[in-house]
Amino acid sequence: MTDRWVEVGQGVLVRRHDELDLSTGLVIGDRGCLVIDTRCDLGQGAELAEAVRALTSLPWQVVITHAHFDHCLGTAALLPATVWAHLGCRDDLAAGGARQHAEARQHGFGAAEQVRPVVPDRVVAQRSELDLGGRQVVLAHLGPGHTDHDLIVAVPDAGVVFAGDLVEQAAPPAFEDAFPLHWPGTVSAMLALDVLTRWPTHSKGPTVVPGHGHPVDRRFVTTQRDELADLAAGCQAVVAGRLDIAGLLRRSPFDAATTRTALHRATAGNPTPCRLRPADETG
Ligand SMILES: [Zn+2]
Repeated sequence: MTDRWVEVGQGVLVRRHDELDLSTGLVIGDRGCLVIDTRCDLGQGAELAEAVRALTSLPWQVVITHAHFDHCLGTAALLPATVWAHLGCRDDLAAGGARQHAEARQHGFGAAEQVRPVVPDRVVAQRSELDLGGRQVVLAHLGPGHTDHDLIVAVPDAGVVFAGDLVEQAAPPAFEDAFPLHWPGTVSAMLALDVLTRWPTHSKGPTVVPGHGHPVDRRFVTTQRDELADLAAGCQAVVAGRLDIAGLLRRSPFDAATTRTALHRATAGNPTPCRLRPADETG
């Protein structure tokens, strides 16, 4: 696969990238456009900027769905621009980017580019609306999930939601910074948005764009929400002593490594944390 645009609505495009099967986005209005996420490093951000400029010369704004390196380290290549993010994302990036660069290096990116990440200058607490000229775009934080600061980007007139990593198509959901017990409810809140429930059934879509992998439909997201809920219930059963870890690994909809990370996150803030032991992981 080479990087390419996929149109998911009129003037609403997904750019599919080779690295990490990542998706970025572009929403084009009459007076401006919005770029959604900026890739893994400055060079990739510059390629994205060039690809946007091949489609439109309108002034752009940028929104970062969350502070993981693959979604935010290319932002400097799009400056000057207004950059939107959730408060938690802003604070994370304002810390200087050491964590993002370490994660990027782990994945083989950005070794030569130790620049500080761009700190977003416009903060979303729960919901903001942007007027791009002739169309509104909604930025919303629906609760903890993949991180504590995920933003979704809804384009109501096109029936499209960019979900960031709240939804994953290319791989299992990633739990390293997640809130496994809250994540299913946050996806339910997304599924309940007007943009997804009131889209005319005779039309194509509605479409949800995951942070990684191909655009998906409501059914895919509903199934993934149910899997997240199964895993959350299993983690709660382990915490309550009703299920052992081997039993959780057997019933989990996800692979063992994903399940163990989710359990660790689910119990990290618990007053009686459950400890993983090597013997627990073999059953
Ligand atoms: Zn992520």
